[in-house]
Amino acid sequence: MSKVSGVVLYEGPSVLDGQPIIAVATFSSKNEKTGPMIQTWILRSDVEPQVASKAGLDGSVCGACPHRHSLGGSCYVITHQGPLAVYRSFKRGNYPTFDPGIHGSLFTGRMIRLGAYGDPAAVPVDVWSSVVSLTTGHTGYTHQIGHPKFDSRILHYCMVSADTPKGALAHQFHGRRTFRVKTEDSPLAANEVLCLSETTGISCLACGLCNGAKGDGPSVAINVHGTYAKRYVSKYGRINAIAV
Ligand code: SF4
Repeated sequence: MSKVSGVVLYEGPSVLDGQPIIAVATFSSKNEKTGPMIQTWILRSDVEPQVASKAGLDGSVCGACPHRHSLGGSCYVITHQGPLAVYRSFKRGNYPTFDPGIHGSLFTGRMIRLGAYGDPAAVPVDVWSSVVSLTTGHTGYTHQIGHPKFDSRILHYCMVSADTPKGALAHQFHGRRTFRVKTEDSPLAANEVLCLSETTGISCLACGLCNGAKGDGPSVAINVHGTYAKRYVSKYGRINAIAV
């Protein structure tokens, strides 16, 4: 098999709004926080991601996430960087359609990150279950638990993304592990730990704690970072200041 930089895991309608999307897995990554995990990109298949974001068409892949730039949000992903490179590569025909018999070995012994861009809940859950079963582990996050089209089986693969202490505690009360972005000066809840990349410097590859809302272990919080951090602080700073 010639060197394959990525494969198309899914091409079809978004679970969230029925518009055309793709899910692509890429095998090499320089992301220091995650380490060399397989990255997956959930993109509109008909519009470049930065154009989709500006036009508000990113709901097909990001659903109800309040951090969408089109909603004035603070998402740390720069759509004209990684997502655009993957989109253009897809359009050039660089990624074959995933065939377990041909490409399965590219996943064996690796960790996979569900949603380097886009929400895994936009993709049918069977796509994730078949590919995750080939790997040694995964991380994932979803903002779609309140979306009318949300498939709750995604919770086996993704942490529930929470935006406020109150929201996180409500999910934790119902046995769902959360991943919460917080301001630096706000406290952790009793059943939360600070992301281990912040406290110990290890990568997600080595840590793997964020492996699903139904998994074992504590919930996780992380201090806000990235280009749009100021937007987050102005939107959520006061909410975070409430002691949990
Ligand atoms: S807690 Fe671990 S898996 Fe989760 S984001 Fe932090 S380093 Fe990655």
